[in-house]
Amino acid sequence: MEKKQKIVVVGAGPVGSLAALYAANRGHHVEIYELRSDLRDPSTTPLNFTKSINLALSERGINAMRHAGQPKLIEHVMGATIPMRGRMIHGKRATGALYEESQDYDVHGRSILAVDRGRLNERLLDILEEMRNVTFFFNHKLTGADFRKNKAWFELRESASAGAAQGQRAREIEVDFDLMIGADGAHSAVRYHMMKYTRMDYQQLYIDTMWCEFQIQPRPTAPDASLNSKFLISPNHLHIWPGKEFMFIAIPSGDGSFTCTLFAPASLYEHLESDRTGALVPPFFDKHFPGVTTLIPPAELIDSFHRNPHLPLISIKCSPHHHASSAVLLGDAAHAMVPFYGQGMNAGLEDVRILFDILDKHARMDELMLGADASASRARALAEYTAVRVPDAHAINDLALQNYVEMRASVLSPVYRLRKFLEEA
Ligand code: FAD
Repeated sequence: MEKKQKIVVVGAGPVGSLAALYAANRGHHVEIYELRSDLRDPSTTPLNFTKSINLALSERGINAMRHAGQPKLIEHVMGATIPMRGRMIHGKRATGALYEESQDYDVHGRSILAVDRGRLNERLLDILEEMRNVTFFFNHKLTGADFRKNKAWFELRESASAGAAQGQRAREIEVDFDLMIGADGAHSAVRYHMMKYTRMDYQQLYIDTMWCEFQIQPRPTAPDASLNSKFLISPNHLHIWPGKEFMFIAIPSGDGSFTCTLFAPASLYEHLESDRTGALVPPFFDKHFPGVTTLIPPAELIDSFHRNPHLPLISIKCSPHHHASSAVLLGDAAHAMVPFYGQGMNAGLEDVRILFDILDKHARMDELMLGADASASRARALAEYTAVRVPDAHAINDLALQNYVEMRASVLSPVYRLRKFLEEA
């Protein structure tokens, strides 16, 4: 029998939550430490300070959830997705007429799925909450770790405003663990502390692109009761308004709305911000993203541009992804990538499946060699994980960077059209 271990997961985002679920299903004692309060609590400030992000969920991520040993997870998640069978390219002809062109992702009609990241995360937390071997520690920030002694320190964050007003000092707690899973996102504290123990190569790149979120609201009075009539544009596409140096995209949500994102260089954001009234925003959209101002009224465009944050995009590579038998990095903590391949979360969820496959394999080998040391077996498993996963993580990071050119420009190029024609011939 595999010896039960104490697994500390840092970060209760989608990747940390799925990792906790895999660990808990194996009977380990799981503790999840999360910097923010419970995201199911309406007063929690959402990630990136926007209401929700709609993501493209694809086979990598679905497969990882399928293997989580909780059929209701995949049922719940899949029930709240919208299939996107292709991308819809929006543009204007020389005559001035608007056009839409559907480009299917797959000759067999298979789709990627639009999913609300927040709701997916909530489903995972709901399932974890029912498990007796899982304990949550919200408002706990990792501040230090000793990966030789397997100890970590967390600052318990009281309500920030109350704390500041009363001058309270944050309380620190010490926690021990067999394995720490660092799923604490792009600016990972686990990774930072791991670097003191491991000769880790690390590379980070901010690309010259910022993003900001907008919304296309559902049709106010749907002509009939069918769900599709609530959408102002096709619900089964990822919509792209390419613009060579920038682009605007829209991903459907279950209520008939679309979450939209403007990706553009920092200099363009500065230019649009230079008029404080926002007056430059609608004409910019009219010139470069034809038809958008009929979907999002100019006043709403300006309001979203002012209200929602303008955020940078980071690409991170590191190696190894583990230290000895005591720590491993998953998801954005190991390989934050730009979003243009729609694979950041998917690859992070896949990390979880691959890590536990390898841990299981080494645990089985242990069982055969009676008395083998669990920590030595885990160290071998983590080394194998790094060997298997680092090249794949680097590859998807590079592909994601390259795909920005594809999405914002090549979708329109004659070469793209010729290639598609030849593929389909
Ligand atoms: P996160 O979601 O960042 O979660 C990390 C958690 O750790 C957070 O809850 C944070 O509060 C917590 N934390 C941080 N520091 C500490 C600390 N010191 N102590 C304790 N807790 C801590 N991916 C896709 O697969 N498909 C897409 O279509 C897609 N589109 C995207 C569009 C945009 C605009 C962006 C920005 C990203 C997109 N992604 C997409 C990427 C996806 O959002 C991320 O890859 C995914 O959220 C990473 O999940 P994670 O759990 O690894 O990290």
